[in-house]
Formats: sequence, C-alpha cells, structure tokens
Amino acid sequence: MISPIVRFLGVALALAAWLTAPTSFAEERPPNFIVVFCDDLGYGDLSCFGHPTIKTPNLDQMAAEGQKWTNFYVAACVCTPSRAGLLTGRYPIRNGMCSDKRRVLFPDSAGGLPQSEITIATALKESGYRTAAVGKWHLGHLPEFLPTSHGFETYFGIPYSNDMNRGVRDVSQHELAEQENYEAYDVPLMRGEEEVERPADQRTITKRFTEETVKKIREFKDESFFLYLAHSLPHIPLFRSAEFRDTSAAGIYGDVIEEIDWSVGQIMTALKEEGIAENTLVVFTSDNGPWLTFKTHGGSAGLLRDGKGSTWEGGMREPTVMWWPGKLKSGIVHDMGSTLDLLPTFVSLAGGKLPTDRTLDGYDLTPALLGTGSSPRDSMFYYHGEQLYAVRKGPFKAHFKTKTSYVGQKEAKVHEPPLLYHLGHDPSEKFDIAPQHAGIIAEIKDLAKAHSASIDPVESHLEKRIGDSE
Ligand code: MG
Repeated sequence: MISPIVRFLGVALALAAWLTAPTSFAEERPPNFIVVFCDDLGYGDLSCFGHPTIKTPNLDQMAAEGQKWTNFYVAACVCTPSRAGLLTGRYPIRNGMCSDKRRVLFPDSAGGLPQSEITIATALKESGYRTAAVGKWHLGHLPEFLPTSHGFETYFGIPYSNDMNRGVRDVSQHELAEQENYEAYDVPLMRGEEEVERPADQRTITKRFTEETVKKIREFKDESFFLYLAHSLPHIPLFRSAEFRDTSAAGIYGDVIEEIDWSVGQIMTALKEEGIAENTLVVFTSDNGPWLTFKTHGGSAGLLRDGKGSTWEGGMREPTVMWWPGKLKSGIVHDMGSTLDLLPTFVSLAGGKLPTDRTLDGYDLTPALLGTGSSPRDSMFYYHGEQLYAVRKGPFKAHFKTKTSYVGQKEAKVHEPPLLYHLGHDPSEKFDIAPQHAGIIAEIKDLAKAHSASIDPVESHLEKRIGDSE
C-alpha cells in the first residue's frame, strides 16, 4: 500500500515535471509564416545560388539548414502582377491585376487589388493569425487598396516602386544612386494609411523595414502570425545604410544584397531569441528577375536567359530559400514551385480552409516541404501583361511569343511552331528542339488551350488613372 506522503510526493513531482517540460504550446499552435520578398533580385545574385562575389552568409545558412528551390517561379515578370499572384494564389489575368497598356501601377493609378480578392493575410486571419505588412506594396496606393484593406493589421512601407515620382531628370539613375540622392524620388513612406515621411529616406529603408519586422516578431510571438516583408530593393535606384557602403566586392549592388542578407540574419536571430524558430516557416524569394539594362546596378540571372520583364527563365525563376528548423527536409529541391503556391500551402499548414468560390492556381507544397512527397506542380504559365507567352510542362517549355524587355522591342515575336526547350538539359534556353518533338508541342498546346478556357475575362485595374472619367 502506498502511503499518502509518497502519493503526494509522486503527484507533486509529476506536476513539477509537467510544468517544467519544454513548452508544447508553441508547437501546438499553427506555424508562423514570414515571406521575405525582394524586388528585382536575380536568380544568380546569392552566394548559395552561385554568385562569385556577393556574400550572403545568412541566406547560405538558411539554405543549408532548410531548402534551396531551383525551379521556383513568380506569377509574372514585373512587380504589380507578381505581387498580386503571390498574395492571392491566382494568376493576375484572373483578377485584372495585369495589363498590356500599363504593366504596373503608378502614382497616378486609380486602381488596385480589388476588395473581392482573398489574400494570404485575409485567409489566415480566419484561422486567428496576427498579420503585418512591411515594405513595398504596389497593389494600389489609395486607402481601399492598401494592406490594411487586405487583411493586414498594420502596414509600414512605400506604396509603389522606389523610382517613381522622380523629380530630377537631368542626372542618370546611376548618378543619383551613387550620390545617395533619395530626394530625387518623391516617394512616401506610410504607416497604416498615413504618410509619415516624404520623400522616404531610402538610404535607411532596408534597415527600418527590418527593425519593423523584428518588432512585429516580438509583439506577435505568443500567437500565430503572418509577416509579409517586401523589400523595396534591389530595384533601382540602389540605396544602402552607411554600415554597408562600399563594403561588398560586388560594388553598390553587392552592398544592397549584403544588407538584405543582414536583414535575414536579424529575422533568424529574433526568431531564435523568442524561441519560435521551430514554429516558423520563412520563405525568401523575389518578385521578378534582374533589371539587366541597368548594368552593374542591376543583378544577374546567372545561367538563366534574360531578366525582368521577359518570359524567358531569367524573368520569372527566382532564387528561393525556405527555412523551418527541425521541420523541413533539408536539401536542394529541384521540384517546381511558385509564389502562387504559398497561399494554399500556408492555409493547409494552418489547418484553415481554402476559398471554394474562385479558381486558385496554387498547389499545396507541404509534401515537398516535409519530405513526404514531391511538389504537385507540373506546369507553369508565363504571362507578359495579358498575353500567355510560354508554358512549361515537366522539363519542357514552349514559347509561343517572345519579347526582350526594356530594349525597345515593340512587338513580340510570334513563334509557330513554338520554340521548345528542355529546361533540364538546357536551363539557358539556347537550343530549340521543336522539330524533334511535335508530340510534346501538341500536348503543351492542349494545356495552354485548357488554361485559357478557364479564364473569365475581367477588366484590368492597372489602366485607370486618377481623374479619368468613369
Ligand atoms: Mg520587381
């Protein structure tokens, strides 16, 4: 028979053990998500993606501990539609966030992401997530389109690109960046729906976006959260903090990327300090490829062809790193993935429900993340404005039209039969193999036809300007 004292001691010890056990609360909570979204970063711009002179030790560590995705795509080759695709999980052609006339939103634009769209933030809020957006928005600068109208509790950032409202025209963008003349760009910095600084001092913008993100991590640490950090760089004009000036072997562009890498390190450190790294999935990628016409102020797509604004691989395949200590199956992932997949993946991991009243173009990447299977994505549609220019199916990519952007090529070149490349054998898209693969071309044409038939025409929201009559 157990004496009452022994029984009491046993219960007390069990209680003490339960109270001092490593907390399971954080692990029981749905995971946090942080998306770090750069602007115009090229596929070849990180050292873990092969850049020989830019140093990115924090991203390299994330890639080594987590996953490096080598076939990860954005939804469009320029800013506005790419951002709309990431946040809604839908090709921009479905919600009017692309246009052949105005490829992105401008300070005189009257439109933006429609209220009827469901963003990652809106979807995760349904599951009780805290949300914050930091950085460049570019989905409409009028109040009804800002992050605070799209599921984000707070917003701190610039509402459109950092080169807009340029006042100084007689000095080149290169010179303006070298002079650190941020006053040449009348870009507002906003908190919520209020302007708090104009022009935004872009020299410290990466640092301040980072501080805001870290602040939110600490504020939200006891709840599930989604943070969207969209850096406004390395989109030209380039700016960096004093600590990073002339520190990179890769010049001013390298300084900018190395500061972004520092920013990633700050986020990793804050997550570790708060004890929530094991419950946080961090995704690092960019909105489109490098702006090649800006020479040494633009990045590099590595061995991929072309860059920003084009539907060649360099315009839409992005260096992507995912990190979730102890959860991700670490290694290099060669499967196909896309920013379109983030919404379904996050909602799935959060145990939420996807909207059923609309077509989503994303897939749940959970099996590839956890190593229980492969990515369900087997195709990608490459849009230039409202036009479908190319389609990838498995390793094959067919180009129906091509256009090299920002070099004055006005009309797209039409290809019939389409150009065909095997992206496994020929990632640089150099050797057209269409003549040997009529069957593959027929298959891809069928896929393009079925995709196009699934699109209901909608009005573009990128064309209307403030002051236009109804
Ligand atoms: Mg961009």
